[in-house]
Amino acid sequence: MHESNIQSLQQQVTSLRAKGKYKETIEACFDLLKRGEEIGDYKSILVAHLNSAASYYCIGDIEEAFRCISAYDEVCREHGDETDHLNRHNVLFLLYEYNKDYDKAKSTLDKAINLGTRLRKYNIVSNAYSNYSHLLLVERNFASALAMGKLGLEMAKIHSPSSPILKVRVKLNIAEAYIGLEDFKGSRLFIEEIENESVLDSDTYIREQVQFSMLRGSWYSHQGHYREAFEWLTHARDLVSHYDDIYLLEEIQRERCRLCEQMGDIETGFYAQKEYISVLLESRKRELERTALQLEVKHSLADLKKRATTDHATGLANRYRLESTANEWLREAADRCENIVCIVVDIDHFKRINDQYGHLFGDEVIRQVTDACTSVLRKEDLIGRYGGDEFVVILRGVTLDVGVRKAEQMLEAIRNLNVSCGETPVPISASLGVADNGEGTVLQFNDLFQLADVELYKAKANGRNQISVEGLLDSQRVQN
Ligand code: GH3
Ligand code: MG
Repeated sequence: MHESNIQSLQQQVTSLRAKGKYKETIEACFDLLKRGEEIGDYKSILVAHLNSAASYYCIGDIEEAFRCISAYDEVCREHGDETDHLNRHNVLFLLYEYNKDYDKAKSTLDKAINLGTRLRKYNIVSNAYSNYSHLLLVERNFASALAMGKLGLEMAKIHSPSSPILKVRVKLNIAEAYIGLEDFKGSRLFIEEIENESVLDSDTYIREQVQFSMLRGSWYSHQGHYREAFEWLTHARDLVSHYDDIYLLEEIQRERCRLCEQMGDIETGFYAQKEYISVLLESRKRELERTALQLEVKHSLADLKKRATTDHATGLANRYRLESTANEWLREAADRCENIVCIVVDIDHFKRINDQYGHLFGDEVIRQVTDACTSVLRKEDLIGRYGGDEFVVILRGVTLDVGVRKAEQMLEAIRNLNVSCGETPVPISASLGVADNGEGTVLQFNDLFQLADVELYKAKANGRNQISVEGLLDSQRVQN
């Protein structure tokens, strides 16, 4: 794949995610991952894992998101740079926060703060402090939340170019922490500062505008001014309708109901309750839609995986799956000094069959040979189509002798095939090369295949329709 193509695939992944098309992002990531692995492009592999993780998070499949992050980790540890590590912390924080695992979320933020400071990425450091402060607010540890918020503000101030929204985000937490500490003057000061920020006048930062209205509601509510608080919450409700966040809306409506109770306003409370119930219903509906989407993604991905690892014509493992599974087995075999046998099967004079009886007939022969081979194999053996008329069988935990017997059975089954074109019987035979991994000394599929392929070549050169085995003398070869 050309460099520009893989780059455009990377861009496609990020732009799909930015548009909130999570299923499509995950599918595109699968494609990017496969291509990245094919050409050993680690950047693409990292982009694919990271965007998959973030998309799974967005559709609420946290288990899958963690799986993607651990795959990301594995590659990142060896091939990632510091920015890749920083990206990892950002996504991990979201996952831990979602799971309400605040200790791990905090330790992830600590790492982001350390690394971000070293890299002088003060916007990231400021955001991390801000998130830290938010977690502490949730835990009602207001003094620490205030301290973290202030550190975040320092970082936002030294970030260049100056980013007003960065400061606003931290100040929202600082003001909330002051409210928690019942320091309403301190809080008022920051509320006024936020109010004077023109960055909140535009439509760009609706979420922050909503949070600001909620903050003002909280300021009044904590001082017993429930009516004013209710008005600010109503304002937040109106704003959030421009910003599709059902969970935030749920929180606002819950708070509005609580305030009505505090005010003893039964009539307003009735309507607030009705709105709250309809938000809850909408929220449950969205939850179901998300579950449906998770299932849809699972099916679509299973289908993509199957297609990417299966040879369409025969249903056998394709070369990719053959290689990756065999490599895995060889690695495990090396640890356990286990023997693995590789048999390469190639149909004799297949070109002639094609030329004489047509390509479609040739296809049928390939399917019949597939059936003949699989009929003598165990369920746990691996067989794949290496390409054209060549198949590879991998047997784990067997001696070379047992492998040779398996090869003999396969050759016998191929010879016994009853293939005919119309009335004309067409005899089929194959040549087979057999080699083993020397009890764990061969570590790569390509090396093991090479050994067996050399034997296949010998079997062909020796007259075909026979088996050649690594390490045996010509006189010992298995003939007709
Ligand atoms: P040998 O005994 O030396 O193996 O001779 P051969 O004719 O089988 O030679 P070779 O393996 O080089 O030829 C394989 C042929 O298989 C060439 C190619 O046109 C044909 N082929 C590859 N894939 C397919 C396929 O999917 N279907 C059909 N019908 N033919 C295929
Ligand atoms: Mg052939």
